Amino acid sequence: MTKNRRILLADWLAKGYKLFGKDARLWRFKCSNCGHIQSMNDFIELREKGITDVEPQTAYFSCIGRFDSRLPKVGQIGDNISPCNYTLGGLLCFAHTFVVDEEGKEHPVFEFAPEMDEIEVLEKAKKMYEGSVEKADQVASDLIEKRIEKLRNRCEVGK
Ligand SMILES: [Zn+2]
Repeated sequence: MTKNRRILLADWLAKGYKLFGKDARLWRFKCSNCGHIQSMNDFIELREKGITDVEPQTAYFSCIGRFDSRLPKVGQIGDNISPCNYTLGGLLCFAHTFVVDEEGKEHPVFEFAPEMDEIEVLEKAKKMYEGSVEKADQVASDLIEKRIEKLRNRCEVGK
């Protein structure tokens, strides 16, 4: 079993920065229940489409399945469907990492997730939106555009 870890907010932010770069909207988090990988950008997209008004920061403690009403099926604890409706703010806390803020308060967070490549992204989108090829294609192409933009930004940062 993974041991629980406490990390200072500043160190946690530094870790995210090191893993994913300066734009926190692109940092990827893995749902502690179903393993779905998501970013604040995914939540921003839902807000822009009027699907939910939940804060983008939700990405590090609640699975997007709770909010994306376009999904044909949303997972629950123990059923292996992803994304799911899990939140670390509920009764069952599966967090391994607790971020300690300036006041010493502890906040459970999802783990940082390594990036997915385009093929994984496509397959994930197809699974998420099964039964709706159009939506899956749309989501996949949006994601890929985001990835390209991200790579472009990185190149610019490197200049
Ligand atoms: Zn989940």
